[in-house]
Amino acid sequence: MKMRKRAVLDEPLIAERGSPGRIGYSLPADDLAEYAGDLAPELCRETLERFPEVSEAEVVRHFTRLSQWNFSAATTLYPLGSCTMKYNPVVNETVARLPGFAQLHPLTPDEQAQGALALLVELERCLAEISGMDAVSLQPAAGAQGELTGMKLIRAYHQAHGHPRTKVLIPGSAHGTNPASAALCGYAVEEVPTGSAGILNAETVKQCVDGEVAALMVTNPNTLGLFEREIVQITEALHAHGALVYMDGANLNALMGVAKPGHMGADVIQFNLHKTFSTPHGGGGPGAGPVGVKKILEPYLPMPRIIQRDGLYAWSEAFPQSIGKIRSFYGNFGILVRAYAYILAMGGDGLAQATRMAVLSANYLRKQLEGTYEIASHEPCMHECVFSDGSFKHTGIKTLDIAKRLLDYGFYAPTIYFPLVVSGALMIEPTETESKETLDEFIEALLAIAYEIRTSPEALKNAPLTTPVSRLDETRAARHPVLRWGTV
Ligand SMILES: *Cc1c(COP(=O)(O)O)cnc(C)c1O
Repeated sequence: MKMRKRAVLDEPLIAERGSPGRIGYSLPADDLAEYAGDLAPELCRETLERFPEVSEAEVVRHFTRLSQWNFSAATTLYPLGSCTMKYNPVVNETVARLPGFAQLHPLTPDEQAQGALALLVELERCLAEISGMDAVSLQPAAGAQGELTGMKLIRAYHQAHGHPRTKVLIPGSAHGTNPASAALCGYAVEEVPTGSAGILNAETVKQCVDGEVAALMVTNPNTLGLFEREIVQITEALHAHGALVYMDGANLNALMGVAKPGHMGADVIQFNLHKTFSTPHGGGGPGAGPVGVKKILEPYLPMPRIIQRDGLYAWSEAFPQSIGKIRSFYGNFGILVRAYAYILAMGGDGLAQATRMAVLSANYLRKQLEGTYEIASHEPCMHECVFSDGSFKHTGIKTLDIAKRLLDYGFYAPTIYFPLVVSGALMIEPTETESKETLDEFIEALLAIAYEIRTSPEALKNAPLTTPVSRLDETRAARHPVLRWGTV
């Protein structure tokens, strides 16, 4: 395959641009100068050494060019498994920026915020319908905080029934946030082994359940991209012992509109709106991780909750069994607006179609690549598939080298070394928003890399070779970031 040409815009540091005295603004003369010195003399600097002196055009060009160095869903397929990096429709941004939403102060009296409250109530209803749950709280700010909230609900439930219990069962393939959330709620984590087919075996789960188990945390489809086919027997086994089922809903992009976690016996799930419902993510947020629960857990949901009073929506804290607040105010409102816009634009049939396309795309990739890359399971997958570096063991080329080389081919890398149950995992989630042409280009790139591994593996050892910076010492970069010009 021909290496795709990426324009690498060489760009110096901003401090290396410009010329003394050049400015990018023209402000009126400062008529407060004589007072400012008295108020905060330490803040009044006569000169600022090495401060960039640049025109507005230089500033705009500098940052626009730097932005071209990034990979994003707006520039290329971004196949991070488990992250659902689908395209985020720009209309969502327009809707979230409507002044009535964007400028609404969180302390606005309820009577003056009826539209916003109605939107929240409607979104709760949509999410309950999509998941088959009875009630929803939009408060958690991310998937992991949704998990923490869900586990707190489970603890409150058991506590109210006399004993909080001591253990939570979690499969080895789980996302790292699952055991962390359980541990934060004071539970000991017990690992349930995954069966040889990559899914949980109901019999094995049954043997692990006893009266001390508070819940099973299970992701469906699981992190290998496989549907947990025995999920109904599994949730029944938990319920038979009075234990509950927490379903990690991060992979809802493989289910929405087609199957409902509520019907599978889940008692609580979190939604990752920033994944499934198309709101921007990466770079640390903001996201939103609402939780959906069955009736038995509703009394414990975070407060305040929206109620109807005299025909108006209002926030209420009259929920004596609530676990309380888990975030300031009411959640990441702007993200909730985007998710609601997405759900309305898609409609029920649209969401189901997106799910089917996401599953089809992943299976297309799986079939095209499984002859070349070792795959974790030859079973049909859901919305993602997990390969590994297993077939290249003898060459010394590892998953990290393959991921880095993909950058030279113009694609962002898949999720690597997760799930932990697959050694050298390469976890690919194409999502429904990629065209067949893009999928084919990505497949060609991975096949070309496999060819390179066999014929000229040196190219991979130092990849990427065409990006502005090549391979970094990521640990050192994270521990000792150099953020100031001139300090090296
Ligand atoms: C992304 C993800 C999470 C955590 O969600 P955040 O929003 O990143 O906190 C939990 N579980 C799974 C399976 C995930 O993919």
